[in-house]
Amino acid sequence: MKYISTRGQAPELTFEEAMLTGLARDGGLYLPAEIPQMSPDEIAALAGLPYEEIAFRVMWPYVSGSFAEDEFKGIIARAYEGFGHAARAPLKQLNENHFLLELFHGPTLAFKDFAMQLIGQLFQVALQKRGERVTIVGATSGDTGSAAIEAFRGLDAVDVFILFPHGRVSEVQRRQMTTPADSNVHALALDGDFDDCQAAVKDMFNDFDFRDGVKLAGVNSINFARVLAQVVYYFSAAASLGAPHRKISFTVPTGNFGDIFAGYIAKRMGLPIDRLVVATNQNDILHRCLSGEGYYKGDTIPSISPSMDIQVSSNFERALFYAYGEDGGAVAQLMDELKQGGFDVSQGAMESLRENFDSGRASEDETLATIKATLVSGAELLCPHSAVGVKVAEEARAGDIPMITLATAHPAKFPAAVEQASGIHPPLPPRMSDLYDRPERVTRIANDLGAIQDHIRGQITA
Ligand SMILES: *Cc1c(COP(=O)(O)O)cnc(C)c1O
Repeated sequence: MKYISTRGQAPELTFEEAMLTGLARDGGLYLPAEIPQMSPDEIAALAGLPYEEIAFRVMWPYVSGSFAEDEFKGIIARAYEGFGHAARAPLKQLNENHFLLELFHGPTLAFKDFAMQLIGQLFQVALQKRGERVTIVGATSGDTGSAAIEAFRGLDAVDVFILFPHGRVSEVQRRQMTTPADSNVHALALDGDFDDCQAAVKDMFNDFDFRDGVKLAGVNSINFARVLAQVVYYFSAAASLGAPHRKISFTVPTGNFGDIFAGYIAKRMGLPIDRLVVATNQNDILHRCLSGEGYYKGDTIPSISPSMDIQVSSNFERALFYAYGEDGGAVAQLMDELKQGGFDVSQGAMESLRENFDSGRASEDETLATIKATLVSGAELLCPHSAVGVKVAEEARAGDIPMITLATAHPAKFPAAVEQASGIHPPLPPRMSDLYDRPERVTRIANDLGAIQDHIRGQITA
């Protein structure tokens, strides 16, 4: 399988190369040149299999040139062995035909562990074979960073630097990033918001001297390996509810568009997904865009679902690539316009997006009310991100097609908002109950590219 850039100007790479590279050299994002297909029989056969087996069957065609079969099976096994639930991604019924896909049983209690734990193992095996060392730099609105640190801590072929917006992540998120004692872990609190963190990381990748000098590698949701890992649970959940014999819809609390884009890939592979519903909080650029108002940046407003406080959704570029008929030149032009503030989506591309995606938005009050109502009616304590999803899903449900809402984090990761809504202080699972007692280690840093680069150069071991 070859991987191509959404902007059409970067060399084609193998899976392993695209994974180790992250952002393409033309500024674009890598995608498989063709999307592998799964037949209805192959999908039906997934029902009831162990999660790891489903993961192997779904992902193998994407990676087969880069890893041996047994090697890849070992990678998957190690990636998910630390999860706190045997089903890995259990499905719970919320009410008639509305289901919750619990994606928060990994080591940092959010769905990002599904991708990050896999990518940690993939990097380790690939780098060991090459005898190389890399510097991983990532931006986080909270959950990516803790998941990355948890996945890469202690691996000797990797230094990991995570930029998070100072004062804008929850205490649990911050402590998950600042308490690991491993010397290859570096948490950086940036004076700025998440978009500033993400812009700094993009600028570092576009500075080729720096990029080559420190052997920069990216694990943000632009990395296709992360999208791929997330495709798996769309298959496991849909197959367990009767796909391919009936259609299923998904609602996805969305920030960077990585998780929902994985659902789009699953659909293109042959999974009979009816609607993919984008659920946003008050930072609703995606909802406005899918409602036909163009893609124009606003200011990021801090919310109680901070992992979705995003104005520029990097993975949306991938959706645009397909909506514009795989025209890299057109995507490159849109991304230039975005630097000036935004762009209008062409009529043809808009129709293509609407064939697959719906969208909705939940206000802060609606999110709190949904946490409370779901506790009363379904005995489920939702995190605020999942509550945004449930609220939008209830409005988007159509006919008797089952709706699966992705529950993206454990309520204990966002205790303040959950307690405000429900009166219940959600306890951390026992395996991390000493989090508040561990010492923190963090560097506060200005929103200044040169200062960040100097700091990284001074800290790396290679
Ligand atoms: C990252 C995250 C999201 C948004 O996912 P994207 O892939 O960025 O769209 C939603 N909820 C939680 C809890 C997250 O950590």
